Amino acid sequence: MFPSPIRLSKSRFLSGLQCAKRLYYEVHTPELAAAVDPERQAIMNMGIEIGEYARRWFPDGILVQETYRQTHAALRTTMELVKDPETSVIFEAAFEWQGTLVRVDMLERIEDDAWRLIEVKSTAKVKPIHIQDVAVQAEVLCGAGIRIARVGLMHLNTRYVYEGGPIDVEALFVIEDLTEQVQQHSSRVREQLEHMRHMLRAPFPPAIEPDGHCHSPYVCPFWPHCTQDKPDRWIYQLPGSRHTFKELEGQGVETIDEIPAGFQLTVLQQRMKDNVEWMSPEFSTVMQSVVYPVHHVDFEMFMPAIPPYPGTRPYRPIPIQWSNHIEHQDGRIQHDTYLCTEPKDPREEIARSIIATVGETGTICVYSENERHILLSLAEAFPQLKGELLKIVERLWDLFAVIQQHYYHPDFRGSLSIKSVLPALVPHMAYQDLAIHNGAMASVVYRKMVLDELDLIERARMASDLREYCARDTMGMLMLRHVLLEKATACIAPSSDA
Ligand code: SF4
Repeated sequence: MFPSPIRLSKSRFLSGLQCAKRLYYEVHTPELAAAVDPERQAIMNMGIEIGEYARRWFPDGILVQETYRQTHAALRTTMELVKDPETSVIFEAAFEWQGTLVRVDMLERIEDDAWRLIEVKSTAKVKPIHIQDVAVQAEVLCGAGIRIARVGLMHLNTRYVYEGGPIDVEALFVIEDLTEQVQQHSSRVREQLEHMRHMLRAPFPPAIEPDGHCHSPYVCPFWPHCTQDKPDRWIYQLPGSRHTFKELEGQGVETIDEIPAGFQLTVLQQRMKDNVEWMSPEFSTVMQSVVYPVHHVDFEMFMPAIPPYPGTRPYRPIPIQWSNHIEHQDGRIQHDTYLCTEPKDPREEIARSIIATVGETGTICVYSENERHILLSLAEAFPQLKGELLKIVERLWDLFAVIQQHYYHPDFRGSLSIKSVLPALVPHMAYQDLAIHNGAMASVVYRKMVLDELDLIERARMASDLREYCARDTMGMLMLRHVLLEKATACIAPSSDA
């Protein structure tokens, strides 16, 4: 059925390790994959950026310029560089062996005929999948006649604190030696490649059912295709442990409604199974415990891999904006907001402006622990503001925790994220009408707004989208609190706790 030889690559090999059916689809029916969303694209772009940045570690390195589509030329250039004794490091070296093609991030000559293979990752540590990643590369290079003496993985060092001036590349990255682990894997790699080739020659994809493996170590783009015929209340939608799913699947249970009585579920899973509105006996008291003026505060942040400002570290969250909808006792609603639109460290302005907006009185309603963590990190960064920031922390009232302990609605469908709770209880406050739908997208837009070359109109539009998104969160929180307060004080007899 597939007469032409099927070429494998490192990424196809890793897909095949995650799921044979995924590899089959990638090779034979890639059009079934979901489109790459902007957040996923941003993560991929960041990986490319980190890979390029890491090359600064070896200033004498030579890049194989040919792209992934110019395979033959890339292979030829690589061989010329390998043969040239003056070459110390090659970036993006291309090798092929028995129909498997790899591009190596860094290949460092450590003896005349011996090399160190280095893979660059934008992660903060070595993950199990990385061993397989470098093992297949090492195997292809060995097959192509390159002697690999050592194998390393370069990743970000999250303990590195940027002090200003040029980044210290050797402090920003760490190279961990994986030679031994790769040696242990090498005999299996050939077998795995052979197995994948054999599977790819079959006329149909392997019969593999979607479950937890579809999201780890990577989110599979064929998930929508593989799950399109699953029932509405499929057991995979149960929140929490994938063990529960496996156990239920093993018992032949397909929907949440078929879960047998007595099967051990977490509180949230049980609420989803009960599928009825529920409130605790204390719900009304808790909802009425707020003190006016009630602030509704949300921060947005971004987490750059390469620390941009002195005192910051890789992936350390940096707050970039906040919104505060203030409800006064007389019913007046006031809206304060802050967004840093310049490419500068916004933290001190964020700290000072949030202190100003929340004043000294009133409950500060937030949704999740995120705001607490941001305030604590600001208190650590600016000791002169620590006292005032810690007082704010003491006034936080987490609506997420309140809902978690005291309320459930069937339309939450097992998720207490504000993106699920808000549309369920305040339908006109959903996020789909906004240009920015979630925090990850906000972070991508912010980064673009402050760092990319944009015209003024585009920059202003992005700033407006960001403000609108953050304001939706806080106005949404205010309206959500009202709806919940009404429910809590209405005459609905509390059911017994599950
Ligand atoms: S969704 Fe799951 S089962 Fe389907 S191809 Fe992807 S990993 Fe395999």
